[in-house]
Amino acid sequence: MTSAKTVISLLSVFFVAVSTAWALPQRLIIGMDGISYRDMKALQEGVVYTNFWGVVRRHGFGLDEGYFPVSRMVSTFPSTSDVAWTDIFGNRPLPGYQRTFYSVAANSEIAINGLTSTMEHERQMQWQSESDLTRSMGYIYSVHVYEYEVREMVNSFWKATGTNFYAYVRSSDDAQHMDRDVFTLLCYMDQKLQELRARYRAIEGHDLQILIISDHGHNHAGRGERVQIIPFLEKNGYQVARSIQHSNEVVLPTSGIEDWIEIHNSPSETERLAEKLVHLKGTDVITARIQPGRFLVLNSQNERAVIDWDAMSNAFRYSTVNGDPLRYGPVAQALGREGKLDARGFATADNWMKATMTNHYPLALQRIVRGLTRVTLNPATILVSLDNHYVHAAALINAGSKLESTESTHGALDDINSLGIVLSNFTSTHDTSTDRVAGYFGNFSGLREYRAEENGAEWVNKPEQSRARIKRDPFDWSYKSLPNNQIFLRVWSPDLARAGDDTLHASIVKLSGASADAGPDPVSLQPSVLHEQNYTFGPATSLARNFESAYERIYPCPTNLSLEPSSVYQISGWAENGGKSAARFEFSFNTDDEGKPVAY
Ligand SMILES: [Zn+2]
Ligand SMILES: [Zn+2]
Repeated sequence: MTSAKTVISLLSVFFVAVSTAWALPQRLIIGMDGISYRDMKALQEGVVYTNFWGVVRRHGFGLDEGYFPVSRMVSTFPSTSDVAWTDIFGNRPLPGYQRTFYSVAANSEIAINGLTSTMEHERQMQWQSESDLTRSMGYIYSVHVYEYEVREMVNSFWKATGTNFYAYVRSSDDAQHMDRDVFTLLCYMDQKLQELRARYRAIEGHDLQILIISDHGHNHAGRGERVQIIPFLEKNGYQVARSIQHSNEVVLPTSGIEDWIEIHNSPSETERLAEKLVHLKGTDVITARIQPGRFLVLNSQNERAVIDWDAMSNAFRYSTVNGDPLRYGPVAQALGREGKLDARGFATADNWMKATMTNHYPLALQRIVRGLTRVTLNPATILVSLDNHYVHAAALINAGSKLESTESTHGALDDINSLGIVLSNFTSTHDTSTDRVAGYFGNFSGLREYRAEENGAEWVNKPEQSRARIKRDPFDWSYKSLPNNQIFLRVWSPDLARAGDDTLHASIVKLSGASADAGPDPVSLQPSVLHEQNYTFGPATSLARNFESAYERIYPCPTNLSLEPSSVYQISGWAENGGKSAARFEFSFNTDDEGKPVAY
């Protein structure tokens, strides 16, 4: 006993430079934003190309280094970061595809501050660049920010414990938007990982397991022409608005420069509007939800098909009406010959996946259907995938904006936008998709439990929480005991594990009135302290005992909560712990047309 302890303490002195050497993670999982399958494949095989400096030869992540051949990871549709990462980790879907989104319950466009707010998939990382400065600089000094991020990631790895270490490198995407050379970025990562692996091997006596995944591709299509969607809609009798009061009003949430468009409209208009969009210059494929299980696919040549979805068996049928907009006719015939279509003409999602993985529009049926129903809590009625030579940008993006010089983008349905990567040095990988990849890697266990380490709060309800695909927090199970159609305040903080008293104090102030005439950005509005209302929340709801969490509480709304309809409010709250305020939180929210807080 004593001698073993002595050996361990001697070892700890010896390895003090690398902290707890024997407890280093077994696996490093890097979420590398926006790395295309075709780029990683080219680099693995060795690529010769010409850039500003002349002819360049590059080779990286090779089989000689122990990497397996890279596999495809088919993104969501739209093939955008927040949507795809949320799907990869199986998290509860986000309220919208973008950080400006349309909330059905609030009937309002809502803006989250994209630079300072952090999404769940980012908080779950053991390491990500958290500095707002780095993030806003990402577009300007992309290569420096990128190299800084990679070095910081490596530094924090040496301080880590736990089996899996998750890191998120965001600037690989920013750099490509700015037309930086993706092979240079990848080779830098490769080199830093070689150094890391060599040092790790010397300490641990075996190789570090590395898994690199990305969320979508990048089109490298050059500066696209801006699609004239707003004049087009106006010419066709529609009005772009922040809420939908009349059947001619549409909401068009937009952030950044992208090659897809989301449209929210009154359901009675969906088919008519989709048919009109065929004539919008720059469109490639138009997809629309026309019934709960029925979706329309149109393209710029006015070809037309219908997708039917059997949600129970997760099976799809593709029926061409005029032409074949997805070029899936031959695929359906082949599935028929192989006996993979049922009597109604449906094939399972997995059979469609195998048959369309290398198609120009990979996994299009499941991605269109999920894009218009499941990947966000407020799906659009129409999603437009643009031709790669066109982009959609917010009207207010002005000259000199950091986004103005975008040379590459993503979001569309086709392969160059949609194919991300799965790359490993410890297991051969398979072509997969954002909703399937977790199944190959133990459902990505060991993500950071940020709710046990940070303060926060949100409004939740049962239908919303049931949408988390991979259960991780106790609440992912215990929500089932909540009543339907009632809203709750969920509060989390390490303080709550210590606080004895359940009572929560909150003050609520109105930020703005009826959302239809709210200003352009609710985030910039100042609370009016004159109208502060104070409430007491508690006691907390008791949930199924096995799933009680020490660090979070679920509170019913106080019965005297009285808020105005269709407004924006800010809530600040705290728990009392031995005379001190604990678990402090603050967030803004919208109310519905009855004055109830909206969860999403
Ligand atoms: Zn991304
Ligand atoms: Zn991007």
